[in-house]
Amino acid sequence: MGICVIGSLNMDLVVRVKEIPKKGETVIGKDFSTVPGGKGANQAVAASRLGAKTFMIGKVGDDSFAKNLKESLSSSNVDIKGLQEEKNLPTGVALISVDEHGGNSIIVAPGANFEMRKEDIDKNMSLIEDSKIVVLQHEIPIETVSYALAAAKSKGKITVLNPAPADEVSLEALKGLDFIIPNEHELETLCKQKITDEKSMIEGAKSLIEKGVKNVIITLGEKGCLHVTASESINYDAFKVVAVDTTAAGDSFIGGFCANYLKTGDIKAAIVFGQKTAALSVTKYGAQSSIPTIEEFEEFWR
Ligand code: ADP
Repeated sequence: MGICVIGSLNMDLVVRVKEIPKKGETVIGKDFSTVPGGKGANQAVAASRLGAKTFMIGKVGDDSFAKNLKESLSSSNVDIKGLQEEKNLPTGVALISVDEHGGNSIIVAPGANFEMRKEDIDKNMSLIEDSKIVVLQHEIPIETVSYALAAAKSKGKITVLNPAPADEVSLEALKGLDFIIPNEHELETLCKQKITDEKSMIEGAKSLIEKGVKNVIITLGEKGCLHVTASESINYDAFKVVAVDTTAAGDSFIGGFCANYLKTGDIKAAIVFGQKTAALSVTKYGAQSSIPTIEEFEEFWR
């Protein structure tokens, strides 16, 4: 039994610039690259590269980006029979400018991702049934996210929600959810309160636990992460690396965490594994291009 990731696929169109242009301004960029991305696809690639049998359920358009995105998933051994091509819709794209200091500005045009409906979940129920862990994010319609989580829970699956980009979630989605993995900003949106320090972070996490979430793991970038349950909260320091690009750090953490949790059933070990995966990813540029394979992981952390 493996992992089923239900979510977005985007082609990232990345331009490096000296300064990100202001409104009305045109600037000449330095170089341009197309990199497969989308939180769903990144997490599926991470889970698969880190050793888990992985299915992806999602939607693309009928264009060349779709072809490239599918190839990228397949070449990482992700099973793509849950991907559908929508005629007359564009594949999701992210227009990304990165400045000299590593700062960025991103516009996502979701295209086919926003056409993911409940029927698409029903059509692919056998992939959910064949998985032990089901993972969702917020780059497909929120009603579809809630529906898929409910379907996975009704089948007794371990459910994981990465509530990114930040958006509110329904009470039903939270009830019985095994893991919610937000960053600080997403936690603020979820619990509708300002997060200023560890105390407010734990209070925010506890408010989600009161609504039925079993584990809250807040990722804190280079500061690591905080795991909160009804009975305890544990800090994990990040691993020290030379970071060059933090794109897909969160996705690498989730993919690595899920792959290891599938194998070990040990939350603490899976958090350490997720953090090692993410730390390694920030030493490389890009989204899917920065996600390590299990061989690269083992070599680096030997
Ligand atoms: P997101 O990209 O979703 O906001 P974070 O920035 O919180 O996610 O990063 C997710 C995880 O990646 C962190 O919990 C940490 O383990 C790891 N990470 C992120 N940035 C660094 C860094 N500079 N050095 C080492 N690990 C990092």
